[in-house]
Amino acid sequence: MTAEARNIGIDVPAPATACTDPYCPFHGKLSVRGQSIDGVVASIKMNRTVIVKRDYLKYEKKYERYTKRSARYAVHASPCLNLKVGDAVTIMECRPLAKTVSFVVVAKRE
Ligand SMILES: [Zn+2]
Repeated sequence: MTAEARNIGIDVPAPATACTDPYCPFHGKLSVRGQSIDGVVASIKMNRTVIVKRDYLKYEKKYERYTKRSARYAVHASPCLNLKVGDAVTIMECRPLAKTVSFVVVAKRE
């Protein structure tokens, strides 16, 4: 394995540091697919897995207004990204890594 980051096929900057995580999309062998989702890191209490929260508005036809909704995803995060709570991230679908984990963080947004 080289220290060079892999091209994962989407237009995101590669992390500045390298890692040896086999489930890292840049330095391991994990491929990404499907849609990318923007969210905010809500919890980093797990090992190499973070909770990403996405807030969105859902239109309620009957009341002709929007309601606030949110979704929480368990997302694999490689150590090279060095995430903290509150970081804005882009996540992308990958193969299921655990019972609830089928997304991986692909970028930290500024
Ligand atoms: Zn990495």
